[in-house]
Amino acid sequence: MSNADLSLADLSTADLSSADLSTVDLSLADVTDSDAPAGEKVTAALDVLRRVFGYDAFRGFQREVIDHVVDGGDALVLMPTGGGKSLCYQIPALVRDGVAVVISPLIALMQDQVDALTAVGVKAGFLNSTLDLDTRRLVEAEFVAGEIDLLYLAPEALASRATLSLLDRGRISLFAIDEAHCVSQWGHDFRPDYLNLSMLHERWPGVPRIALTATATSATRSEIATRLNLTGARHFVASFDRPNIQYRIVPKREPRKQLLALLRDEHPGDAGIVYCLSRASVEKTAEFLAANGIDALPYHAGLDAATRAANQQRFLRADGVVMVATIAFGMGIDKPDVRFVAHLDLPKSVEGYYQETGRAGRDGLPSTAWLAYGLQDVVQQRKMIDTSEGDLAHRRNLAAHLDAMLALCETVRCRRVQLLEYFGEPASGNCGNCDTCLEPPESWDGTVAAQKLLSTVFRLDRERNQRFGAGHCIDILLGRSNDKITQHRHDSLTVFGIGGELSEAEWRGVVRQLLAEGLLAVEGDYGTLALTDASAEVLGRRRTVMLRREAARPAKAARTAKPRGAATVVAELTPEATDTFERLRAWRATTAKEQGVPAYVIFHDATLRQIAADTPSSLAELSQISGVGEAKLAKYGEQILTVLTEPPQS
Ligand code: ADP
Ligand code: ZN
Repeated sequence: MSNADLSLADLSTADLSSADLSTVDLSLADVTDSDAPAGEKVTAALDVLRRVFGYDAFRGFQREVIDHVVDGGDALVLMPTGGGKSLCYQIPALVRDGVAVVISPLIALMQDQVDALTAVGVKAGFLNSTLDLDTRRLVEAEFVAGEIDLLYLAPEALASRATLSLLDRGRISLFAIDEAHCVSQWGHDFRPDYLNLSMLHERWPGVPRIALTATATSATRSEIATRLNLTGARHFVASFDRPNIQYRIVPKREPRKQLLALLRDEHPGDAGIVYCLSRASVEKTAEFLAANGIDALPYHAGLDAATRAANQQRFLRADGVVMVATIAFGMGIDKPDVRFVAHLDLPKSVEGYYQETGRAGRDGLPSTAWLAYGLQDVVQQRKMIDTSEGDLAHRRNLAAHLDAMLALCETVRCRRVQLLEYFGEPASGNCGNCDTCLEPPESWDGTVAAQKLLSTVFRLDRERNQRFGAGHCIDILLGRSNDKITQHRHDSLTVFGIGGELSEAEWRGVVRQLLAEGLLAVEGDYGTLALTDASAEVLGRRRTVMLRREAARPAKAARTAKPRGAATVVAELTPEATDTFERLRAWRATTAKEQGVPAYVIFHDATLRQIAADTPSSLAELSQISGVGEAKLAKYGEQILTVLTEPPQS
């Protein structure tokens, strides 16, 4: 079948008239005016959604974006990860004449993106430095002849004259700029080549552009609009809530052991990502997990390219691999069944944290975002900011990001409410699916404790002109005599031993929270404690300090918690259906291996679960299941029905 079957030009009138418009929930007012009859265009988009992708209905404002772009409008689309951004340009690419040019920063993932489209019968290609000359010539010819509907390009390709003149020889239906936040210089994924993309508009003024990102703050949004010359574009901003992700932040004790417990208790056999700050800790953590029977692989920029590519491939293709990585890993990874994202170190910003955790649960099934965070994280990050290159404004910007992240860690409120507010979105009440909702932390009046700690810092600093780190200050408060204490005669300080009411762990919690609130500061290479202007308010009893009580034991949130978003509540499978699901997964694994594509390119877990629950007995019934489009039905339908009729294994 030629992909041309899927473009509007080839949808026969018979097809259109047979489509029952009354089943489509559209009022006339919703339909934008255009030269083609509005109903026809809407039907074409919906028809593509159903026939090609096998989905019943558009999600959120997908339909509005698609209509707008099909009509030739520019769009800036902000949707959380897993929100369904790809269809926002893929469907217009199929409905409009010509080839859509998709700018994507990740060369390593282009093959998978093209494979996923091929699997649903869409013709797509990519051009990047990995192609041999013959393949490149072939793809170029297909582009010029309009034989493909989508062409993926890396942003740097547009700096080359050869690419520009190639693009001039074809007919471009639209430009899609994926991961558009890469144009933001203050953002966390800045790519200089993205700055060049504003020229698309100058060179091809008549071609609509759609920029997409999952990074949400309004500052980033306006920066994207300005830099990409998209100020006239219509903005589509979705809710950033990810109701199926359970957010949990725990005090760091023995992080690797805590992580192992999480994986064993709650995510055995699941695929997930573990983020660490340094390459060394990536290596150590991956080794530790592997030694404990977890299928874990490392990924960081210090590994050679071949190892990185091989590890990424295994993570994408095999079921249940845990990737231990620095933040160099993850952008553009669209594996839908990542069941958890764990952070062993504090992320530098809420934006980064949200982007990274957002890689869990794209398929809408329940997933966990887990972060272990401790005092040392704060000390280390403050130090990194103090010693970072760049001017004062830059360091202030970094500090503001860190403060917001700390505030999220120390909050006694619903984490989701705080996250959404950070992204400027009013939340509709507590979520019921984060650690503070599931096990509300107690708060206690820590004013006296804060005063004890601050006066210790004060006495060392003002009376003795000395500064020490948190560990030493806590030793003083707890009245511990050790070499350092005796050497400096700190046992003669009036504050020595006045803090026996709290344990060491609790004192560390006090230090952390005072740091988070700016009532205390860390400085210098050794992370010594210092007072801030606000400390005086506490010492002068003009300010009460409410603190979060450290859980005696690490909180383990209930796995059975029901997320509030109705769409994400998954029915438990019966034992029989679970057996069927496992057989379908085994079939999928074999098929994926034979074809050399990731398992999810064949079918998503969510689709297999639905098949296992419904046990369709005919191709017609199977085609009703979400995620089963025409191409997959034709290719795998009979095989699925055979798997369903096999007797259960047990
Ligand atoms: P994003 O790029 O926004 O992170 P994707 O485009 O990868 O998200 O979509 C996330 C998942 O949701 C994909 O598996 C996709 O197939 C699925 N999806 C997208 N739109 C729909 C829809 N209208 N109905 C059902 N599933 C959808
Ligand atoms: Zn909550």
